[in-house]
Amino acid sequence: MEIKRIGVLTSGGDAPGMNTAIRAIVRSANYYGIEVYGINDGYLGLIKEDFIKFNRKDVSDISSRGGTILGSARFVEFKEESVRLQAVEILKKHKIDALICIGGDGTYMGAYKLSLLGIPCIGVPGTIDNDIVSTEYTIGFDTTLNTIVEAVDKLRDTTCSHHRCSVVEVMGRYNPDLAIRAGIACGAEEVITCKEDYSDEKIINVAHEAKKAGKRNCIIIVCEHTIDVNHIEKVLNDDGTYETRATVLGHIQRGGIPSAFDRILAARLGDYAVRLLKEGKTGVCVGVKGETLTHMDIDEANKLPKKKPVELIEQFKHLI
Ligand code: ATP
Repeated sequence: MEIKRIGVLTSGGDAPGMNTAIRAIVRSANYYGIEVYGINDGYLGLIKEDFIKFNRKDVSDISSRGGTILGSARFVEFKEESVRLQAVEILKKHKIDALICIGGDGTYMGAYKLSLLGIPCIGVPGTIDNDIVSTEYTIGFDTTLNTIVEAVDKLRDTTCSHHRCSVVEVMGRYNPDLAIRAGIACGAEEVITCKEDYSDEKIINVAHEAKKAGKRNCIIIVCEHTIDVNHIEKVLNDDGTYETRATVLGHIQRGGIPSAFDRILAARLGDYAVRLLKEGKTGVCVGVKGETLTHMDIDEANKLPKKKPVELIEQFKHLI
């Protein structure tokens, strides 16, 4: 089937660099003579028929903007087949032949199930968490990592001045990539990546060791959904080795100007997604391995074992 018109949507959590991907998709598709419709607010906008025609110029000057100009939404109803069948009818009505869906694994599932109903779909990895196993890097991860590093560096300035300890919670869902890499980049004394490895005694020992080594401050990075940073703050304040403050970086991590790395990644993956659609691929997700662009069936990608970034920190333990 010749693809004449495609739709693009962003779904799940927003990530810096999604706009660069949208721009690349529009520019690449137009280059190949394919029309592009932006779909606002993910799968919700698809059902609401909230479409906007994109020409080359409509996506000028968006690469440097964080967030997503298309907006995003969590729309659980898309898990129901009846809702997806409705989406198929809407796409047919608007003569949209195929979709490119930018987001995380949930978004991929939506794309995959839609492809089973006959709509060619490609998934593009857009999530700050870097938790998509079929790619080495997701769009937004690098920018978020840099945001965390900048924030922790600032915390280090003040903790140093006051002989304090900072316990910093960072995002990542259940993937500790952000926490571990931030820990390495910021020279943290400890990175907490899972509940099982944590104990109050262990964290007190980290503070004691830091004091013994003559450190003016102590930085502890905690991956979200593991240990409550306010609990760690209390444990360390009760111990008294360092006066301690807990900081939850929160949604500041999602925003900001996308890094050059994320923009280049997004541009390459967006263009690749268009080319794969042209070749007749469907139900696949794109990614990178080193410098190489890759693609894989979404179904197959979902069965891959989870990443194990924890091994990374073992290589750096002796530098702390
Ligand atoms: P992030 O990793 O940033 O959270 P995500 O894409 O994994 O991104 P989700 O909220 O899990 O975020 O999924 C985004 C949207 O994809 C959902 O709101 C829903 O519309 C659709 N979706 C998720 N799971 C499924 C599924 N199993 N079947 C069909 N659609 C789904």
